Amino acid sequence: MMTCNQVIRKVDDILDGEEGWWVRLKFRMHLAMCSHCRRYVRQQRALREVVPEVDASMLPADYETLLGNILDSVLPSSDDKDSSRP
Ligand SMILES: [Zn+2]
Repeated sequence: MMTCNQVIRKVDDILDGEEGWWVRLKFRMHLAMCSHCRRYVRQQRALREVVPEVDASMLPADYETLLGNILDSVLPSSDDKDSSRP
């Protein structure tokens, strides 16, 4: 099982399709159980769609926090399965 840190470090490679099936499988298994990482991956995917050419080194160090705050206010929180159900 991957840790959250490993997932976060692998996100770029996996979104780029640079990892093998075994790593992708472990990655998916972790996402299936970890809402924090699901949210992080969703943010990374959204970031790539918005600014595909931006290099992470060009961004401020806390951009992930800033981006998370922005995306939280924009994206539907589909992972919060308990909050919207009757
Ligand atoms: Zn995680």
